[in-house]
Amino acid sequence: MSLEFAFTPNPAPRPQDEVEQVLADPGFGAHFTDHMAVATWTRADGWHDAAIKPYGPFQMDPAGAVLHYAQEVFEGMKAYRHADDSIHLFRPEANARRMQTSAARMVLPELDVEDFLAAVNGLVRADARWVPGSAGERSLYLRPFMFADEVFLGVRAAERVTFCVIASPAGPYFSGGVKPVDIWVSSTYARAGVGGTGAAKCGGNYAASLIAQYEGYEHGCSQVLFIEAAGKDRLEELGGMNLFLVTADGRLVTPALTGTILEGVTRSSILTIAPELGLTPQEHRITPEWFFDGLASGEITEAFSCGTAAVVTPIGGFKSDAGEWRLPANGSHKTLALRNAILDIQYGRVPDAHGWVTRVV
Ligand SMILES: *Cc1c(COP(=O)(O)O)cnc(C)c1O
Repeated sequence: MSLEFAFTPNPAPRPQDEVEQVLADPGFGAHFTDHMAVATWTRADGWHDAAIKPYGPFQMDPAGAVLHYAQEVFEGMKAYRHADDSIHLFRPEANARRMQTSAARMVLPELDVEDFLAAVNGLVRADARWVPGSAGERSLYLRPFMFADEVFLGVRAAERVTFCVIASPAGPYFSGGVKPVDIWVSSTYARAGVGGTGAAKCGGNYAASLIAQYEGYEHGCSQVLFIEAAGKDRLEELGGMNLFLVTADGRLVTPALTGTILEGVTRSSILTIAPELGLTPQEHRITPEWFFDGLASGEITEAFSCGTAAVVTPIGGFKSDAGEWRLPANGSHKTLALRNAILDIQYGRVPDAHGWVTRVV
């Protein structure tokens, strides 16, 4: 049975001049639109009470299960305004399916792909005026999430769950043009282990990665690259982004999905378009030995991270307890070509050859 998201307009929407002020410099994750999508699941009744309604706080009981046991998953996606003012999503079914996979791992209920899409589309339609213009890589960031909403301290899967989508206008990740970032390779901390939750998009993974992030900040790095926890024999990913390496002989290498890595929609899209840019995509184990040797010898010519928020971020160098490795300055040619290729599709500047873009408004 598919859900009907009944629309209750916000009686006091933000005045248009304030919206325009926000859209002129939205930053990231700081401003929220007039509405949100919600639905409730109970073991007895399944999904029900679906609505697009005024944005506002939840009432949370101190014994609410998510506050204690972190039974929660989320998604991240964007709505893009094209030059003709139409509004589009990028591969939204992939986010819908990934939320199902993440939810299954955290013993949260499955939400049908069509219901997920109805919530996201309904919210984007209701808050279409909050989707910034396409100039400067701005977009409306969408945050679907689902959490245990039962008042109960027993340790078991919640029998009452809330699904919600909120939206937040997002500015360009790089305000002063794309700049390479330095990455800290943590030898102390891991974000995931075999059999753990690394492949699920759950808040707990982020909580677990924060300490390493701060270790990275202390070394002048903005992100952390995690190595597999047990054998330390393969590179995995960053706290919230996947990793790619470009080799001198034109390969585009990324760690294979091993159950400890989150499968990014951006990652999969880059693997698909790589041959169009003359790169041979490869997914396999990347050992730290090959990686550090390749950085030192120049076999690895470029490195970048990728994810919905920043699209593609060039990496200037890596630092660890053992030393520092620099990539050639101004060498991110393939990285920037991939970055532009993805953005061109998302903003409708080239034909959508892969059927990735869905019009909402
Ligand atoms: C969300 C996320 C990514 C990137 O996924 P996209 O679908 O490309 O945004 C990568 N790694 C982790 C841990 C993530 O949570």
